[in-house]
Amino acid sequence: MTQSAVPRRIAYDEPEFTPPPVELPDASVPRETGPLPAPDVTRTMVIANQKGGVGKTTTAVNVAAALAHGGLRVLVIDLDPQGNASTALGVDHNAGTPGTYEVLIEGDAIDQHVQQSPEANNLWVLPATIDLAGAEIGLVDIAGRESRLLRAVEQLLQRRRLDYILIDCPPSLGLLTLNALVAAEELLVPIQCEYYALEGVSQLLRTIDLVKGSMNDRLRLSTIVLTMYDARTRLSAQVAAEVRTHFSAETLRTAIPRSVRVSEAPSYARTVITYDQASAGSRAYQAAAEEIAQRGAPPKGQS
Ligand code: ATP
Ligand code: MG
Repeated sequence: MTQSAVPRRIAYDEPEFTPPPVELPDASVPRETGPLPAPDVTRTMVIANQKGGVGKTTTAVNVAAALAHGGLRVLVIDLDPQGNASTALGVDHNAGTPGTYEVLIEGDAIDQHVQQSPEANNLWVLPATIDLAGAEIGLVDIAGRESRLLRAVEQLLQRRRLDYILIDCPPSLGLLTLNALVAAEELLVPIQCEYYALEGVSQLLRTIDLVKGSMNDRLRLSTIVLTMYDARTRLSAQVAAEVRTHFSAETLRTAIPRSVRVSEAPSYARTVITYDQASAGSRAYQAAAEEIAQRGAPPKGQS
């Protein structure tokens, strides 16, 4: 399903574009059964790694699209001022478009500002704009600054029924990422199969322990995804083996291969799931999403 060379959606480049209002499914509406199993309760997963460029956004958007194509209801919260997840999911995120900033700073409800992603019927996005860059500072003076997103998510789930909420974080451990770690129950860490891959992970795990100990004892490292795996190099295999030794239960069997299709999809405002469904990268993300759905949430109380 390779697409033509012309980008399909240019709406976010047009200043006059106003996204249509979107209704998330009401909590009373029963869900249809799809190919992937639905969790009993909404799984809220934060995709974090303070290291830049390891595949956080790529993993967030492609797992989200694959879960949605599997019949599940998925919301992606873009918590990165770069707005890369909003781009890949084809939603408007010009400066001034309401989204995560308004939720965190103004206290708006999430469903006021979600947009439907053209990537799947049951896939929604709370977009991030460059305005969010000011939120790290804006949050400092707000009461309960680290739990703004948690409050918004709790409020949303009282009224709306979703199977997954995936939160894409910026490459830092600042207040934005902290809000995600406080709001989520599960942590998904993408690890790039390269040298030094594990160095940043120990810092991330120390932060997680701090958050667990003080702000969110529900948080568990549930999933590790090996990204940009290159089967031709010994290094990739060595890093993968090391990660699997340290995190045998958490690491998905599926590793995501390095693939040109995966990296070019966002320039067409798409995920690789629709951009080139049969490509190796797309199939890997579909397999990863299926593993996540089949494994289910880790039992409560497990670290
Ligand atoms: P940041 O820290 O800036 O938010 P990130 O961790 O979200 O980055 P991505 O933006 O997902 O990382 O990926 C970094 C770069 O690597 C992007 O250009 C992306 O297209 C590319 N990339 C990610 N996964 C793959 C893959 N499997 N094959 C090829 N390229 C990939
Ligand atoms: Mg990113």
